[in-house]
Amino acid sequence: MNFKEAIKVIRDVPDFPKKGIVFKDITPLFENIEAFEAILEELSKQIANNFDFNKFACIESRGFLLGSALAYKMKIPFVLIRKPGKLPGEVYKESYDLEYGSDSLELLKSSLNKEDNVLIIDDILATGGTVEAVEKLCQQSGASVSGTVCLMELGFLNGRKKLKKPFYAPITL
Ligand code: AMP
Repeated sequence: MNFKEAIKVIRDVPDFPKKGIVFKDITPLFENIEAFEAILEELSKQIANNFDFNKFACIESRGFLLGSALAYKMKIPFVLIRKPGKLPGEVYKESYDLEYGSDSLELLKSSLNKEDNVLIIDDILATGGTVEAVEKLCQQSGASVSGTVCLMELGFLNGRKKLKKPFYAPITL
């Protein structure tokens, strides 16, 4: 299956989790192994050609699904960016606004240091608040941020304007 065919399995769910939001459900990709493989081929090719980094930083929770598969495929380690209270140990913390609501994210202090250069992975860039917070979170640890890769960008929300580092997504809506 090629990439264009693969992305057709992504589902629009109107009015979820709130009225007025069109939720992009990427989970059917994981139920269709050929589609998942095509997505990983495309993302890994673009990442290898465009970014220099030594660790992925994957955002809970759909960022874990894409990021861990990319890490395995590309043989590059990954660290977890998690919702509050999930990580065992001392953490860095950043708060941010969502397209729907607000939240915080945490990174274990032991996960990154100034020797690291990270590539942030998530499924969707919407308002950009989440990735903006993760750029800051990684920088709190002293690490450099090479950039961010998402599967999809909701271009009409202009999220990439908030980001300080290069951003790539193969799908823009
Ligand atoms: P944002 O901080 O607004 O860029 O939101 C990005 C995060 O929220 C990502 O982790 C996405 O998984 C999730 N998200 C935001 N908007 C949507 C949407 N319309 N459909 C699916 N996920 C979304």
